[in-house]
Parts: sequence; structure tokens; C-alpha cells
Amino acid sequence: DTDFPTDDSAAGADTAASRQAGQIPREVARRRTFGIISHPDAGKTTLTEKLLLFSGAIQLAGTVKGRKSGRHATSDWMDIEKQRGISVASSVMQFEFRDHVVNLLDTPGHQDFSEDTYRVLTAVDSALMVIDAAKGVEEQTIKLLDVCRMRATPIVTFMNKMDRETRDPLELLDEVESVLKIECAPVTWPIGMGKNFRGVYHLLKDEIMLFKAGEEKADGAFEIVKGIDNPKLAAMFPLEIEQLKMEVELVHGASHVFDLERFLAGVQTPVFFGSAINNFGVREILSALVDWAPAPRERDATVRDVKPEEPKFSGFVFKIQANMDPAHRDRIAFLRVCSGRFEKGMKVKHLRLGRDVKLSSVVTFMASSREQVEEAYAGDIIGLPNHGNMQIGDSFSEGEMLTFTGIPYFAPDLFRTVRIRNPLKVKQLHKGLQQLGEEGAVQVFKPVLGSDLILGAVGVLQFEVVASRLLNEYGVDAVFESSSISSARWVSSDDKKALGDFENQLGHQVAYDAAGNMAFLATSGVNLRLTQERWPKLTFHATREHA
Ligand code: GDP
Repeated sequence: DTDFPTDDSAAGADTAASRQAGQIPREVARRRTFGIISHPDAGKTTLTEKLLLFSGAIQLAGTVKGRKSGRHATSDWMDIEKQRGISVASSVMQFEFRDHVVNLLDTPGHQDFSEDTYRVLTAVDSALMVIDAAKGVEEQTIKLLDVCRMRATPIVTFMNKMDRETRDPLELLDEVESVLKIECAPVTWPIGMGKNFRGVYHLLKDEIMLFKAGEEKADGAFEIVKGIDNPKLAAMFPLEIEQLKMEVELVHGASHVFDLERFLAGVQTPVFFGSAINNFGVREILSALVDWAPAPRERDATVRDVKPEEPKFSGFVFKIQANMDPAHRDRIAFLRVCSGRFEKGMKVKHLRLGRDVKLSSVVTFMASSREQVEEAYAGDIIGLPNHGNMQIGDSFSEGEMLTFTGIPYFAPDLFRTVRIRNPLKVKQLHKGLQQLGEEGAVQVFKPVLGSDLILGAVGVLQFEVVASRLLNEYGVDAVFESSSISSARWVSSDDKKALGDFENQLGHQVAYDAAGNMAFLATSGVNLRLTQERWPKLTFHATREHA
């Protein structure tokens, strides 16, 4: 509304440009990308389903293992998965909540979990830890939390199954603090448990949310009573409210007050109590993730840190999944966007290959069908069709030479020697293992001397997955035999001669992995230690980052 004549075209361009300039930071600020970590049976699947209920449009990449729902269809691409009723592959789900875009990355929860689990956690900005309040801290949770700690990932904790007889809540917090070495700041506190579970007291808001079983509706609001001294409460459940007042006093004295900075630094976790199956307390953790968990942050790209709101697109591949859908027998590379805006059809540089690629058929997954991605921002995960030219750790940009770091390969604990029944298939075996190795399904070591290949894994299940995929995708009937190898270390040195001597003298134990890195395969702890002592010029690494 102005009387002055204006140069329309210039003004238009100006507004469009400034709108664009503001758009990326706005989109970044409203994104939350997190993973759920838990021990099997703690309630991760149930909770995931309840979280998804909060949004209308659910986008699923892969899928939650749909034991109870009809969503199994997209994930049962693998026989082994069907047999066991578990999800070998992790998945990505995008949904909106309170004007935020939430990306939820599922991690395999089976005890034989694989390296995939670790790598998925490199693509998140925060994690939701689910604990079965009857069981407390379990083994898998310990391992996963260790991985989160490597990047100081902020953790929100949900104590689940309060509708059952559980352990004493104070004792649970103690256990989290002593076993997981993370400070607990209770935000809600349970009133009773099991049959006498009455609800939770919100310590920060001084209000009580009354429990009602079987609340399946997403927006089913639970009744709220203001103030712990509200006479209404004493009338409703006099015994429990007295107990609550005592406990709250204890909690105030003995535990930590929620501190956003400490949470963001990964040293303190806000703790919520509830019951996933009753949808009770789920909205509170979702709110905590939106209100407190970080938006995408800057990432180390070796030459410099890349900020998420930078105008130019960049990202890295953290996972490759094969044959997610039998109707599309290709591989999908999961890329986490680190900066800028991804637009359908854009040209980006595949930095390892130094080649331009046009990203025209990039996908995300809506319910059980694939959807074309129109645009994506930092924190989002997009699926790139991969015809064998992408590996875990590959970085993409609009041209700048970036190398995103932090995608770990862990020295495997489990080893197998591979043989094939039909020697004529040796070429297919090598091709299959090379591809599966690049994909990160298993680690493949080729000793300098000898013809056997050695496979290394973090979980036993990885071997079964590889055997089944070798047969189905490469027509190779492979036999995995126990191996004399007990551990592996990647070897590096500035001294080229020392490396050469090492390889010449220990050819049976020196091997190269699928990415061409030298490794030492030790037959025992003593063997490893003695070798390290004898070769002081070499460095032995228990992890390597994908280069
Ligand atoms: P996951 O293995 O961690 O994915 O666990 P699931 O979500 O499959 O849950 C394991 C079992 O615990 C299932 O039988 C669920 O129905 C049950 N469960 C999950 N949440 C609750 C809860 O809040 N209360 C009770 N009583 N059972 C629950």
C-alpha cells in the first residue's frame, strides 16, 4: 500500500530473495531429528506408534517393525526378518508436531544388533531412551548410550510401563546415574504404580495429570489437576498423595533440577514417567523433544564446520539398505542433509568420486509407498537410489570439498571364514562381499596371503543376513566357518617402509578391508599386544571413520 511508483521487477526479486534467505534458517529451526534407544521389549515399537499418532501425515522410510500393525509389508524384504519377526533394518519416519518437522530414526533393537545401529546414531541430533521401569537399565541400553556419548548426544528418558508393578522410581534414577553415568533430572514423577498408578506429577509445572487406562486417541487429553496441595487430590487418593509429597521432597533434595545447558551438553537427561501402551506421558516427551532438544547443529566436515542454515546443500550417507521393497530391487542410500536446501532434480557433487550427479528420483517414504521428495533441509533424511556408486560415509555438496566425519566403523568382535560350495561361483562371492562390505552390512577382510576371506561383525545376526543375501541376490551358497581370528585393528603409520615390512612378514594376518584399509587380524589378545610391542612405528586403531 504505497503511493510511490516502484520498480516491480526489482522489488519482486528482492522480496523473493529475502524470503529465501530467511527460509532455510526457519526450516532448520523447526526440525528435530532423533532416534529411540532401548533394550528389546522396553516398548520402543509401541512408543513409536503412539508418537506417529500425533501427526496426520506419517512418512515412513522402511517401517517400524509392524508386529501388531499391518505395516510389516515394507520391511519383510528379507526372509530372515520374517522368520524372526524382527526388523533387521532401521528406518526413518517424518511427521509434524506443533509446527515442527520431526524426523524419527529407528534403530534395530534386537540383541544381535549390527553396526547399522551405531551409524544411525551418527545421523541424529538427540535420542529418546526408553527404559522398562520394571527392569531398569539393561544391556543394550548401556551399549547404545555409549555410542550416544561419543557425540555428546542429548538424551531424553522415558520410564515406561508404569501401569505395571515397577521398581522404586528413586532407585531407577540411581541406577541410570550410576550405570549410565548421566545425571537425571526428573520432570514428571509417578503417583503409585501398577493397579494403583494414578498419574504423574509435573515437577516444573506443579500439576498432576491423572492416569486413565486404554487411552488410545492421539489427542485424548488426560485430566489435569493444578497444584500438589489441591484438596481434590487428597479426596481422590489420600494415601498416594501423601506418599507423593514425601517423594517429591526427597526428589527435590536428592536429584538434579532440569538444566537446558547440561541437557544439550549430553551430561543430564530429563526423565519422564508414563505408559506408552496407554499413550500416557507420550505427548510430554514429544513436547520435551520439540521444546528442549536441539535443532540440527553444525557438523565437522574436516576442512571446516558446516552450519545447517548455510544456503548451499550438503549431506552425507550414513546407511545403505538393499531391497527394502521387493518391487524395487535396488539399494537406497540414506543421506542426512547437513546444510542448505535439497530440491528435487538438483545437481550435486559426489565428492569421493568427484562427479556430478543429478538427484531426480530421490525418495522418502509415505506410509508404505515411496514418495518423491520435493525439498528437504538440514536434519531431514532423503533416500538416494544407489546403483553401487555410493558408500557409507560419502559426502555430497554443491561443489565444495567437504568430508563429513564421525561415521564410525568398529573393530568387529566376531569373525567367520567364508567358503563356497560351488568353486565356480568364486567371482560372484567376491562381488557380493565387496558390495555388502561397501554397504556396511558386514566387514570383509582379504588377507594378503591365502585365498579365504574373513568376515567381521559386531552382532551374530549380521552373518545370517549376509548368508541370506549372498544366496538371494548373488546366487552364492556360502558356508561360514569359525575363524581363528579374535580381534582386528586398523593399522596406520607415516613410515611407509614399516608398513611394507609388516605386510611382508605377517601376510597371513595382514588384510585389507572393503574400502582398501590395512588391518591386522589378531588370533588372541596376547598376539595383538605382542604385535603392537614389536611394531612401535605402527598405530593400531579399534575404530576407523569412513574416509
Ligand atoms: P520393543 O521391543 O522395545 O519395540 O517393545 P514393544 O513396543 O514391542 O513392547 C514390548 C511389550 O511390552 C509388548 O507386549 C507391549 O504391548 C508391552 N508394552 C509396551 N508399553 C507398555 C506399557 O506402557 N505398559 C504395559 N503394561 N505394557 C507395555
